[in-house]
Order: sequence, then C-alpha cells, then structure tokens
Amino acid sequence: MANYVRHAAYFPAGRSDPVVIVGAGHAGGTLAALLRQQQFDGAITVVGDEPDPPYHRPPLSKKFTDDSMIQWLKPPDFYADNDIELLLGVRATRIEPDARRVYLDNGEYRRFGTVVIATGATPRKLMVPGGDAAGVMSLRTIADARALGHAFERAHSLAVIGGGYVGMEVAAVARSTGIAVVVIEREKRILSRVASAQLSERLTEYHRSKGTRVITDFGVAGFRTAEGAVIAVEAEDGSVVPCDYALVGVGAVPNVELAQQCGVACDGGILVDRVGRTNVPGVLAIGDVTRRPHDALDGRYRLESIPSAVEQAKHAAAVISRDVSGSHETPWFWSDQFDLKLKIAGLLEEGSTTIARLGDTPAAFALFHLRADGTVCAVETANSPRDFMGGKRLIAARVPVDPVALADPGVSLRDVFATGSVIGG
Ligand code: FAD
Ligand code: NAP
Repeated sequence: MANYVRHAAYFPAGRSDPVVIVGAGHAGGTLAALLRQQQFDGAITVVGDEPDPPYHRPPLSKKFTDDSMIQWLKPPDFYADNDIELLLGVRATRIEPDARRVYLDNGEYRRFGTVVIATGATPRKLMVPGGDAAGVMSLRTIADARALGHAFERAHSLAVIGGGYVGMEVAAVARSTGIAVVVIEREKRILSRVASAQLSERLTEYHRSKGTRVITDFGVAGFRTAEGAVIAVEAEDGSVVPCDYALVGVGAVPNVELAQQCGVACDGGILVDRVGRTNVPGVLAIGDVTRRPHDALDGRYRLESIPSAVEQAKHAAAVISRDVSGSHETPWFWSDQFDLKLKIAGLLEEGSTTIARLGDTPAAFALFHLRADGTVCAVETANSPRDFMGGKRLIAARVPVDPVALADPGVSLRDVFATGSVIGG
C-alpha cells in the first residue's frame, strides 16, 4: 500500500498521521465523527467555508419557513469535545500532495497524512439575461433557505425553474403555504434525470391536483425585471410567466477546482475507486463531488445523496485505518412532496419494464422496474415503506420475479420469486 506508508519526514512516530477534511458538509462531518468513534488517535481538521457546523440539507427544501429546519449533524460542541479542529468560514485554496500540506485562505496551512476532499456541489446558474436579478434564488445552504423563507412571507407567486428534486420539493412547500406556483421544466417531463416516466406522470398529476401549474418543454430565455427585481420568466418561444420570485433548481455542479489544481483526475466529478481513493497518493474524495463506481453496477455515478455520502465516509474511515474491503449498499433516495413520502431504491435502466403495485389510496403505490431477465433494477415507492424495503432486498437478491405476483398487493414480496428461482443462487 504505497499510498499510505508513514511519511517519517513529516510526522513524528506515535500518533497516527493527521487527517485534513476539506468540506464541512454531510460527508466531511460524518467522516470526522466516524474516525473518532473508531478510536482514530491522530489530529483531525475539518475545513468548511460555510459559517455553520455540518448540518442536514434535506430539511432545507422540505420545511424551510423557519429555523426549525436547522438540524445539526452533531451538537455544535461535539467537535471540540472530540478533539476535532473545526475551522468554519475558512476556505482551502490549495493542496500540495508532495509536501502534504493544505493551504487555507486565512493564511495558514495544515499538514496531512491523508487529505479528504469533501467539497460537495454548487447550484448551477442559469446564464441568461436577468439571471442575477433580485428575487432569483437558489437553494443549497442555510443562508439560501432563510432567504427563501423570507421571500415566502411576501410572495404571491413563485416560478420554479427546473422540475428536479429541489424544484418539486420547494414547489410543494410553497403551494402548501398558499403561494401560486408555476414549475418550468426544460425536458418533456419533471424529474427526468432521477425518476421513471410513470413516476413523473403520477407526481405531475399530484402537483396539478394541488393547484400547481407544471409547464414542460419550456426553455428559459431570461428574466424580465423592474427596478432590478424579477417580475417574470421569459421563454425561448416568447411566452411570459409573471412571478414575484423565482427559484432556480437546475442541478448542482461538483466543486472539483481544488482537486484539479493538485493533479487529481476529474471527469464530471472527482474520479475515485470503490473506497474513495483518487489517483493521487494520500488524497481521498467522498460525497457529491465524486463520480464513483458501485460493485453491483457498471460505470461510475454521481449519486448526490445522503446515503451515498455516508457510505463513502465509512469507506474513507476504513481506508485511513488501512481497511479497503468496504461493501456497497443498493443506492437509495428519498423525497417529500406534499403528503407523499417517496422512497426510491436502485437505478433505472434503459429498456426495463414497469410493474405497478397499488396501495389502498392513490397516494400509496410502488413501481417496480424489471430487466428483461426478470430481475429488479429499481423500485419507486410512495407512502409504501414495506414495498421499499422489500424492493431493496429484491434488487440486491438479483433473482427473477413473477410480474403477475408482483403486481398483486395481496402477495407478499417474499413470495414473488419466479418459479424455479433460487434465492442467493
Ligand atoms: P455538501 O453537503 O454540499 O458539503 C460540502 C461542503 O464543502 C459545503 O459546505 C461547501 O461549502 C464546502 N466547501 C466547498 N469547497 C470548499 C473549500 N475549498 N474549502 C472549504 N470548504 C469547501 N439527499 C438525500 O439523500 N435526500 C434528501 O432528501 C435530500 N434533500 C436535499 C435538499 C437540498 C435543498 C439539497 C441542497 C440537497 C439535498 N440532498 C438530499 C442531497 C444531500 O444533501 C447531499 O447529497 C449531501 O449534502 C452531500 O454531502 P457532501 O458533504 O458531499 O456535500
Ligand atoms: P436535478 O435533480 O439535477 O434537477 C434539475 C432539473 O432541472 C432537471 O430536471 C434538469 O433537466 C432541469 N433543468 C436544467 N436546466 C434547465 C433549464 N435551463 N430550464 C428548465 N429546467 C432545467 O437538480 P436539483 O433539483 O437542482 O437538485 C440539486 C441537488 O440537490 C442535486 O444534487 C439533488 O440530488 C439534491 N437534492 C436532492 C433531494 C432529494 O434527494 N430528495 C432534494 C433536493 C435536492 P435536465 O435533466 O435536462 O438537465
């Protein structure tokens, strides 16, 4: 393991070599806590450019109207209590892998045995006229969520640009507080990147039933402004959607600059191996910034989710303790929209067949996606935790299922295997 030999020239014998984590987000915060939980005895520094200690981002798009949305990952004094140096409001500006130093924008540097890049992602900007106008907002941080909450106190109408997770969750909260909401999506359907056509259709109908206007196939040409503030969204076809505020949720771009600067290979994210190692010795990367492989899947993925960030933090903690065996959980995602608790496991594959398993109400259902060989590649559920858990097990089992039995909610998911299938075979 040439990557992790002790660098005697830099570090005294005795304690483990220092770990510097760049990015005090979900992945970075989880890793620091895990290391101490596992009795790591070296110095740990976490560098974060936000003013706040690590926190949960999911509540920011689900209940951001007041500060009850703030959920710390760990109590704020956890870090000092566990001898973790937490530098907040400080940006790492340069990594020198050969000298084993991370330079900071406060003029200091920290030495490392291992540096972990956990810099996350930044909301993509719409590069159109008026894109910087007052009232055109994005959502990633507590500060963004507070600004959105204040806007909601004044808004009568909100245009949501982008029908992804951020857009649809914010649309649901805004509509629930009585604001007139228009969702504007460039593609033919909402959530086209992350959901099946069948789920998109059901969600679109659900949002429409609550009074939200959903417009698809709409290319944004710009924002119309008055006295520097947004008053409408203009489409490429010349149509105009008036609004008091606009929320732009058109994806997140991985923060790869620091990695690129120190010679770490990037391609749509930092390229890591199955346990988070980059091509540069001593440099790991975890979380939204990475494009990672998965044992059960071909290719590499930016999974952009809490379960993936936590899994990668566990792998990094193990690598730092010289254990590179880490296993991979089936990827999963969740989203809350109105009273729909969505839980999704696996990834959609081209050419799969969809089997619906319907619950007692229109708001409870599961969509199973089957490969040609009858195995399950993904399951999308609403208000149906049992189907989610069972579906996740079916994905991992990779055993063909009987579509007729699967479609029948009276048949337990334990009994849907196709005749002749051997579980675990
Ligand atoms: P981040 O949490 O983004 O943390 C990275 C941190 O690094 C940031 O604080 C950034 O400012 C900092 N940083 C960047 N560069 C530097 C530097 N040079 N120096 C110092 N610091 C730096 N996922 C789910 O699974 N379920 C959900 O319901 C869900 N809801 C979400 C709702 C919202 C509004 C958002 C924005 C995301 C949501 N996600 C959800 C995604 C989830 O939050 C991310 O997958 C997760 O936060 C990724 O963690 P991370 O540590 O990789 O990145
Ligand atoms: P996203 O899921 O990538 O969705 C962005 C959507 O906007 C896509 O459908 C995209 O279509 C569309 N879009 C792109 N450019 C557009 C344009 N010019 N006009 C109209 N629509 C456009 O990203 P997001 O919703 O912004 O979320 C940002 C990050 O937060 C992601 O990492 C996401 O995973 C995370 N997040 C997760 C959750 C959750 O897991 N529940 C909740 C909130 C946020 P194309 O596919 O064509 O680009």
